[in-house]
Amino acid sequence: MSDKTLQDFDISGFQEKLIDWYQANKRDLPWRLDKDPYKVWVSEIMLQQTKVDTVIPYFQRFLTKYPTLYDLAYADQQDVLKTWEGLGYYSRARNLQNAVREVVESYGGEVPDNSKDLGALKGVGPYTKGAILSIAFNQPEPAVDGNVMRVLSRVLKIEDDISKAKVKKKFESYTKELISHDDPSSFNQGIMELGALVCTPKSPMCMLCPVQEYCRAFAEGIEEDLPVKSKAKKQKTIPYVTLLIRNEKKQYIIEKRSENGLLANMWQFPMVPINEIGMEHIENWFQMEYGVNVKIGNKQGKLKHVFSHIIWQIDIYDATTDSDCANDDRIRFVNHDELDDYPFPVSHQKMMKYMD
Ligand code: SF4
Repeated sequence: MSDKTLQDFDISGFQEKLIDWYQANKRDLPWRLDKDPYKVWVSEIMLQQTKVDTVIPYFQRFLTKYPTLYDLAYADQQDVLKTWEGLGYYSRARNLQNAVREVVESYGGEVPDNSKDLGALKGVGPYTKGAILSIAFNQPEPAVDGNVMRVLSRVLKIEDDISKAKVKKKFESYTKELISHDDPSSFNQGIMELGALVCTPKSPMCMLCPVQEYCRAFAEGIEEDLPVKSKAKKQKTIPYVTLLIRNEKKQYIIEKRSENGLLANMWQFPMVPINEIGMEHIENWFQMEYGVNVKIGNKQGKLKHVFSHIIWQIDIYDATTDSDCANDDRIRFVNHDELDDYPFPVSHQKMMKYMD
């Protein structure tokens, strides 16, 4: 390496302390029961942007429903989304299914154990690739995410901005140097576990830390100042009106989102971008768009849903219609019980309390 970050750093001492601590303290998580690459893969995709406690019941349900790659590969996408419902970041589920299908079709159902083929699968970025190769195949590959960068920025006292892509690359090359070749799986999982349990974002528990003697930030008392991370851009707020449209048979209109982009292929109550349409034009717009007459009633409530890049600010109205069918595949009339058959994003599940 050209820089001096790892100069004088006791790599083998650090590895030993970390791995011993991990072996003695690792949590009993369902995806740690065996090293099946498919299960490791599913767990790592679910754990992106999502907390362990939230993931556990989803992981168990998912694996009960799709115990092998073959079960997932040709499952109905709507069922897969339904099983993922509530976890968010639904493109993860779609990409996972596409990639699993490719593994079945191009690799005889065996998850590739090499960086090139594995990294070329949809949704398998450098982190997921490293996690699968190290945990399932015991290869010394770095698996660097925000959690790992936090721990290593403190241990090695790295003051670069971790939100920059080139800094992440730097961390990957440090991890390549640091990783144990005897037990890469425990090494990578040890750093992740340390970040989750001890070296937490706020108030790290340095007094209990197994690698405290190696930690440069602790030695200088600057552990809470690291990592350096520039603030993400503020999300744009988009106002919507959502319509809970009911007919006399107590059926509601639901609408399918487009097959690309945010929440692709999920279902929702019709949602109108109010800045573009204008409140007074909604009834007209709905007739033009879907060929269905609606009459808007009262405002029932409002809610805000925050995504990583935008915020939905939604006003919820009830509405009525005299139709019970539409000549448009994008909408359906369903009764209350049938809603369970459709994958809904969390924001729209919350609106169900306003239904009769
Ligand atoms: Fe993190 Fe503190 Fe341990 Fe350093 S000593 S790795 S800051 S918990």
